[in-house]
Amino acid sequence: MILVMKASCSQNEIDATVKRIKELGMEEHVSRGLERTIIGILGQNLRDIQDVLQLLPGVEEVIPVGKPYKLASREFHPGNSVVKVNNIAIGGDEIIVMAGPCAVESEEQLLSTALQVKAAGASILRGGAFKPSTSPYNFRGLGKRGLKMLAKVREETGMPVITEVMTPSEVELVASYVDILQIGARNMQNFILLDEVGKTRKPVMLKRGLSSTIQEWLLAAEYILAQGNEQLILCERGIRTFETSTRNTMDISAIPVIKKVSHLPIIADPSHATGKWYLVAPMALAAIAAGADGLMIEVHPNPDVALKDGAQSLTFENFRRFMSQVAPIAQVTGRELAVSSMKVEP
Ligand code: PEP
Ligand code: MN
Repeated sequence: MILVMKASCSQNEIDATVKRIKELGMEEHVSRGLERTIIGILGQNLRDIQDVLQLLPGVEEVIPVGKPYKLASREFHPGNSVVKVNNIAIGGDEIIVMAGPCAVESEEQLLSTALQVKAAGASILRGGAFKPSTSPYNFRGLGKRGLKMLAKVREETGMPVITEVMTPSEVELVASYVDILQIGARNMQNFILLDEVGKTRKPVMLKRGLSSTIQEWLLAAEYILAQGNEQLILCERGIRTFETSTRNTMDISAIPVIKKVSHLPIIADPSHATGKWYLVAPMALAAIAAGADGLMIEVHPNPDVALKDGAQSLTFENFRRFMSQVAPIAQVTGRELAVSSMKVEP
């Protein structure tokens, strides 16, 4: 951390500042320029004393150096983290596609979608059982019945499944049915929930909050990592801006930013980012080109009658076409689309 002293500060103020830094158990290094004095401070937990130092007379500015998150940072962990779900590696050389309906509606809907997305190359099945909803009058999911359907379809297709968990008290229940726990955008800063999924050893996918900065998102990730769960994936799903043509604004630049500052895998969700099925493919291609490790895509047997998010859901045919567009883009970035589960069991 660097303290910039006011140009007008007195020697007494500099001495008092140095004394205070020592009292706080930190080491200091004073540099005197022609116009200003700058004090470098070394020590642990510097951010905790930032506000205290800012109040001292003579101090103009306190400039933190380094990141407020540690476990999520690339400084702490220079190599890429790879999250393993069965034999699927997220964050490795292959691009992983998670696909399925927004909400689990029936066993038939889920199974038919699973078979189709698997045949087209998706590795992981998504489907919401507990649905966060902006309006209380919208479909809120089948709850535990939906979890049971996910587990059954996983059994029948061999696909690992991901679903959202919304409350700390349901973490154990949801974890007993699925392979990846999803934290939705609306719960990114539900810190008790983050603690709870951090205590499990299940892979977690943390979506970016509706209006969260990348730093807030990584601090949310830090909660999960700090509980000892390193099986963590980030998901960019668009952020709220003034633009109304799309449901959210997909922040493609967040992908290379995350890759630079963090070791965690990042996948992109162009379905929730755009809200429109015909924008899903172009944004997915852009996300892969920008370095995303995977995609989450909403697919429905009949989007016109979907109970949730039909407007952004791909039909089976659109999904097949979509996958054939993604594969060559993955290749030009030096990666392959995972095809491990291309074959559908008879
Ligand atoms: C979802 O993936 O089902 C979902 C609700 O997404 P988000 O939390 O990004 O809105
Ligand atoms: Mn949805």
